[in-house]
Amino acid sequence: MLFETPIKKLGFGLMRLPRQGEAIDVEQVKEMTDRFLAAGFTYFDTAWAYAGSEDAIRQALVERYPRECYRLATKNAAWINCKTREDAIAQFETSLRQTGAGYIDFYLLHNLGEHRTHYFDDFAMWDFVREMKAAGMIRHYGFSFHATPEELDAILTDHPDAEFVQLQLNYADWENPAIQSRGVYEVARKHGKPIVVMEPLKGGLLANPPEKVAQILQDAEPNMSVASWGIRFAASLEGVMTVLSGMSEVAQMEDNLSYMKDFAGLTPAQQETIEAARTELAKIPLIPCTTCNYCAKVCPQAIGISGTFTAKNMYTLYGNLEKAKSEENWLVGGHGRKPAAECVQCGACEEVCPQHISIRDELKKAVKLFGQK
Ligand code: SF4
Ligand code: SF4
Repeated sequence: MLFETPIKKLGFGLMRLPRQGEAIDVEQVKEMTDRFLAAGFTYFDTAWAYAGSEDAIRQALVERYPRECYRLATKNAAWINCKTREDAIAQFETSLRQTGAGYIDFYLLHNLGEHRTHYFDDFAMWDFVREMKAAGMIRHYGFSFHATPEELDAILTDHPDAEFVQLQLNYADWENPAIQSRGVYEVARKHGKPIVVMEPLKGGLLANPPEKVAQILQDAEPNMSVASWGIRFAASLEGVMTVLSGMSEVAQMEDNLSYMKDFAGLTPAQQETIEAARTELAKIPLIPCTTCNYCAKVCPQAIGISGTFTAKNMYTLYGNLEKAKSEENWLVGGHGRKPAAECVQCGACEEVCPQHISIRDELKKAVKLFGQK
């Protein structure tokens, strides 16, 4: 492995931290952090773009533990509101200040692919990360990516010095032609890059899969959580440095630690179980939204896109329209967002969606489903 000391195969993803109302529940994050470190894990993944996350991890981790106990990853999203190189560099400075970490162990150029890639070239951010590495402010740099295998190949060919890549890999999308998980994985392997896995549970969908899928997993191993299959699948792939789990409560942390502490890969029988679950899952047409909310950052109408899709998927899975409507109410209006009916069809959201969802079409269907005017 490329890096100084081995990294265990579970990383604490800090995108979906526990909340009390709107605020991050820092006391709970402290408890999760304590348990994570006590179990021998060290990798924490935040981002400038995750509201409140860098502040929370400073309080829960940086201010409470010696610097050498952990590795902190954060990210630069030069495609969000940056007009100049200085704007993009300011994100790095903000991250340093918000985390208080002194230096960043793993710095990622965030969400490359499609029209987003060029910002990092236009603003010479690759030079910037090289300079910061030479100055000791960044220990390793790489990038996260949500697009096609061909684009990944091109970026890795143009930037062979990238030390690692962060990819969205999960068993549901492994053979999905829209997402091409296997394809991007194979490209990263071809270039010999260590891989950090994100979204191993597909934004939480695989923690609560449809009943038939859950049944397959539970029948195979009644004592293991359904979510564990997603994490273990990703961690079993060769070349994976760590698997990020966006944990939102202590119980999820405990579950993850229980099976990842001494993880030694999947057996052939376990691989077959995952194959059976994947086959069952592929029969159900869900909107592949991971609630990353990049669309929300660009929507001029403040439409509650991910909330609408979560509610619509809930209807597809469980067929309960009233429950799905009340979910839509809460996730959209309850969070200060506007309903699908107010979409003006400008298409800005589709340009940034890493899942390539036809957002406008899906919103129209949601308007009908939920009976919006
Ligand atoms: S198409 Fe609709 S949802 Fe998408 S950015 Fe435009 S207004 Fe927002
Ligand atoms: S619609 Fe796309 S960009 Fe928006 S939250 Fe879902 S996956 Fe993210």
